[in-house]
Amino acid sequence: MTLIRIAVDGYASTGKSTLAKRLASSLGFLYIDTGAMYRMVALYAIRQGWAAPDAINATAINASLDKVNLAFARDAGGKNRAILNGEDVEEAIRTMEVSRVVSSVSSLVPVRRRLVAQQQAMGQSQSLVMDGRDIGTVVFPDAELKLFVTADADVRATRRFAEMESANPGAVSLAEVKANLLQRDQEDRERLDSPLLQAQDALVLDNSSVSPDELFEQAMRLVPSR
Ligand code: C5P
Repeated sequence: MTLIRIAVDGYASTGKSTLAKRLASSLGFLYIDTGAMYRMVALYAIRQGWAAPDAINATAINASLDKVNLAFARDAGGKNRAILNGEDVEEAIRTMEVSRVVSSVSSLVPVRRRLVAQQQAMGQSQSLVMDGRDIGTVVFPDAELKLFVTADADVRATRRFAEMESANPGAVSLAEVKANLLQRDQEDRERLDSPLLQAQDALVLDNSSVSPDELFEQAMRLVPSR
């Protein structure tokens, strides 16, 4: 059986997940949100008291990775749920508290090694669409299709703010959301191990001014040609 791995990389809140989920469901492939995996490790670290903005206990986090079990489930409506040590944390990992520390946690080399190995194992036996930052460069450098999604920073911030407002009205401001996206982008780009960068053979999709339907159609047109 031929396995197809589709890598969807890009900066924060470019619409990667929406696109990747839709590609996976229309192709009948598994969908994996690798950002959720890093967010689960960050949530675990926050709860242990090992991660606050500017105070990351790298030694404790790195030493505890055997105790962090990451999984995904689907709810009755078919929506993905992130499961940390048996607990559904899908909402808890999307808060600003987690967003503030996740890039520092994801820059720890043992964390990346562990999660990349788990992600690679998921692609051994099934076709999948995986979204993240280093999927086309590190996780599946030989992916059958690599997409790199970009979008204007204000468009990204407005989109993320709307998501956060609907989950928890009044918790954050648009300016705070935008600052967090830019800060994470910078940390993700500048980390030494598997930084966020566009794979040389990735195809760029700009999501600044197209609808989700148009972006999906553009991506689908790239699938059969590969
Ligand atoms: O995709 P999302 O914005 O939820 O990712 C949260 C964070 O997880 C990113 O800002 C980045 O620090 C980290 N991440 C990563 N590598 C991936 C996916 C996410 O470092 N493949």
